[in-house]
Amino acid sequence: MNVTDAQDVRLSLDGGINYFNGRPYSERFKKILAKRKELAVYDRMAAFFEMYDRTQVCLYVGETGSGKTTQIPQFVCYSDQPHLKGMIVACTQPRRIAATSVAKRVAEEMDVTLGKEVGYSIRFEDMTTPDCTFLKYMTDGMLLREAMADPTLSRYSTIILDEVHERTLATDILMALLKQLIKKRADLRLIIMSATLDARKFQTYFSLEEGALVPLLKVPGRTHPVEVFYTEEAQEHYVEAAIRAVLTIHRFEIPGDILVFLTGEEEIEDACKKIQQEIEFLISHKEMASSIGPLICLPLYSSLPPQQQQRIFDAPPAPRTHGGPPGRKVIVATNIAETSLTIDGIVYVVDPGFSKQKVYNPRIRVESLIVTPISQASARQRAGRAGRTRPGKCFRLYPEQVFTKELESQTPPEILRSNLGSTVLELAKLGIKDLVTFDYIDSPAPETLMRALELLYHLGALDTKFTLTPLGTVMAQFPLDPQYAKLLIESPKFGCSREVLTIVALLSAPNVWMRPIHKQREADQAKWLLSIPGGDHLTLLNAYNQYRLNIRDPQWAWKNYLSKRNLAQADNIRAQLQRIMERNDIPILSNFPDPKTEAQLHENIRKALLTGFFMQVAHWDIEKRAYLTVKDGQAVQLHPSSDLEGKPDWVMFNEFVLTTTPYIRTVSAVEPGWLLTEAPRFYDVSSWPEGTMRDALQRASKRVNRKPKRSAAT
Ligand code: ADP
Ligand code: MG
Repeated sequence: MNVTDAQDVRLSLDGGINYFNGRPYSERFKKILAKRKELAVYDRMAAFFEMYDRTQVCLYVGETGSGKTTQIPQFVCYSDQPHLKGMIVACTQPRRIAATSVAKRVAEEMDVTLGKEVGYSIRFEDMTTPDCTFLKYMTDGMLLREAMADPTLSRYSTIILDEVHERTLATDILMALLKQLIKKRADLRLIIMSATLDARKFQTYFSLEEGALVPLLKVPGRTHPVEVFYTEEAQEHYVEAAIRAVLTIHRFEIPGDILVFLTGEEEIEDACKKIQQEIEFLISHKEMASSIGPLICLPLYSSLPPQQQQRIFDAPPAPRTHGGPPGRKVIVATNIAETSLTIDGIVYVVDPGFSKQKVYNPRIRVESLIVTPISQASARQRAGRAGRTRPGKCFRLYPEQVFTKELESQTPPEILRSNLGSTVLELAKLGIKDLVTFDYIDSPAPETLMRALELLYHLGALDTKFTLTPLGTVMAQFPLDPQYAKLLIESPKFGCSREVLTIVALLSAPNVWMRPIHKQREADQAKWLLSIPGGDHLTLLNAYNQYRLNIRDPQWAWKNYLSKRNLAQADNIRAQLQRIMERNDIPILSNFPDPKTEAQLHENIRKALLTGFFMQVAHWDIEKRAYLTVKDGQAVQLHPSSDLEGKPDWVMFNEFVLTTTPYIRTVSAVEPGWLLTEAPRFYDVSSWPEGTMRDALQRASKRVNRKPKRSAAT
């Protein structure tokens, strides 16, 4: 049977036998199918097939929650039949949590096993089966990585780029690559999907003929009106204001679930706790208890473990007593809930108007995540979440003036506000020679490209002609920032690649240190007991080693205020990075097993780290009472979480944190002499501007040059 027609698809879904694996459908499948048939996308199946059959590239724009992400890839599988051709249909997502959660849902909808017919692939986690998986949800970054190994993406028959309105860096680069690829691969199909989109810009961009447009299918969602409310004044403490709003809604508004937008894990966990406490307090009052329904408050952010993520789809709690006030579900989420994941039953949205966004300042080479006002487009999306099931209300915790006069209309694409180090390395690996004339949908600033080239040149990934070196080719194999890849490759020279591998894995995993609000002193004390002189990198390594030594004690991590989940994740990342090292013949060494040689080990580890991070170094300035970053001279302080003691003159850091005081985080002491021996090209002092930093380096350089003579004399 060649099913390409909507009618046939419907028949085969209703027919009782799974079209893809020939087994009878389960009861659960039948329940879910009824829900799927209510989705707006389902109605437009015929229109979709008509467009898809006719063109190589098309655009599909549909309201959030209309069923794009879950349904369209399934339709494509019916038409494309990748399972019969040994090919794969890919659907990209900007966020890991969307890729994993949607893959799980779709496996259920198709009545197949997750990881078999339907799978997902995100960085450090591949949940697919070779020769079996034919529908693969993946992060955009992962598809980009695959393109580096296989530039024609030969295993894929259709690629669906989803959530294109998010304009992530990886999606933007993928669009440019796929635009080239469709000319070479006439059999490859491409679908661009989005919630809101300046469709014409993309229709023109993908058109291979001058003046023509690629076809567009626009599916209006079934949305209900949403009434928007503003506050009179701007709120200084938006988390507190959001909590108050939730409590007010719960006490005075008719049933319906609440979605609150906050900016990050800590803020969200904290708000959830406070909301739950306040409700318990209210319910404990006799006169209130009978009028207030039960409330369950659930967090939603990207590093949440999958079982907890799944809870957001649970039904709200039942009334405490028969006929008592109904229960309500509150979800406190990051931007994820804006368009990536749709939660049914939301009637109220609380929007403080902020999100964490990446910003990059090429002048001082600093990329950081900052809490920033959202755009009008984001605010509209957030409000739209309230009108999915029935008319809803959106409470914006800022004055209307702010919305009309201060918010930007669109969030700028990520390519305009990111450090492009990794991207430029990826493009070099993909054989893109001219970065400036490359067909970006929006071109990055030349200065940002220059910074990336400069970084890769100093790391040795590119030569003076900006072509990829053999070292650069190996670096590009690692799904890491180029600095980390470099130091993994260099670490065997220092006899400590095993230890450095651990440190890189820990730095790639979510933070392992826990510091609960009411137990900060105890947590700091526990960290102090694990701390190693020399800096945070060695302390991290020690914490991991102790965790491994005590692996049989299930309470150990918890007793030491370490996150067992994040340590386990680091373990998994470590194993994967180890495989990439082995594949590239990078030996995993640990040459200092003896306690007697520990000091040497610690010194070597820090030297090895410098081979990647030599540009992230700061020097203590006595007059300014601050560290000044090398070359750029930014005044920074040690982050309070650092356990580095005694203000060493020179430090290397992993992260620059921009708050009212700029901080450097994850810091280790280094010797100025090491800068000259490990990164002579960058620390060629003669080319540096005059000043205290140059003087200090010059003094160090004299010492380094003297040293061999002294040792010869003794
Ligand atoms: P879109 O991509 O257009 O925003 P989706 O395909 O993500 O829409 O979602 C369509 C519908 O599928 C949602 O409204 C929701 O009802 C349902 N859905 C998606 N994921 C899940 C899940 N994990 N559990 C239950 N329902 C889900
Ligand atoms: Mg979607």
